[in-house]
Amino acid sequence: MRDERLAAAEVTLHLHHDDNKARKLKYNLAEARASGRTTLLTFGGAYSNHLLATARAGAREGFTTVGIVRGEEHLPLNPVLAAARDHGMRLAYLDRGTYRRKHTPEVIDGLRERYGDFHLLPEGGSNAAAARGCAELPAEIGQPFDLIACAVGTGGTLAGIAAGLRPDQRALGFAVLKGAAFLNEDVAALQREAFGRPTGNWSIDLAHHYGGYAKRTPKLDAFIEDFRERHGETLNWVYEAKMLAGLYDLTARATFPRGTRIVAVLA
Ligand SMILES: *Cc1c(COP(=O)(O)O)cnc(C)c1O
Repeated sequence: MRDERLAAAEVTLHLHHDDNKARKLKYNLAEARASGRTTLLTFGGAYSNHLLATARAGAREGFTTVGIVRGEEHLPLNPVLAAARDHGMRLAYLDRGTYRRKHTPEVIDGLRERYGDFHLLPEGGSNAAAARGCAELPAEIGQPFDLIACAVGTGGTLAGIAAGLRPDQRALGFAVLKGAAFLNEDVAALQREAFGRPTGNWSIDLAHHYGGYAKRTPKLDAFIEDFRERHGETLNWVYEAKMLAGLYDLTARATFPRGTRIVAVLA
């Protein structure tokens, strides 16, 4: 990608489009099928692409899907939830207090009473099976790189990508949530569960959340507009715009050694 802001710092950037949500589901669907369950139930915020990816994969592979959304119902549905519903997902809402306790037996038992037995995918779909799916991504990238960047929502993508790197490569995640230092422990825990140990070749930038999950600022909007004019790519503001705005900001601050070859993972 030609961009004088990167050229000035002698950094190269390649955008790699990848359906990471489908990757995270791959081994989860295999586990669900092996266990004989026909329903997938999962959790997400109102703009959760994971909910939509689950609805799509479920429709394609013959699962019933249930999406539990944080907060109240807002009608008309936003485009993400409307698309999930159009793929047959049953949507239900949990108030924020209950949603916070969503992984407790009390809440899960209530959901089983209502929806029957299901294969549970955690919020954002991030579990060990998801990380194992994402670990397959780096080997599919055609050109050489030193650093791979991705957005971090629940951490499964970063946990997997970092585990799939060669020893001379590193991963940098950009948290899209505010105050998300807990993600460091979440990603380490996912790696322990999936690969036996944290890989130590990744870090998470916490400074480019632009107000928090699914929030945006005029500065972020200006970055998206400018990027579209320069490169013809319309960036999703929930994830990839925050990552790229963060990468450009760090580049301007001379964070990356000259010659660094970066790959950024986009949907
Ligand atoms: C969902 C998504 C992420 C975040 O994935 P997590 O595993 O929840 O951290 C990052 N980038 C893109 C493009 C996404 O769609």
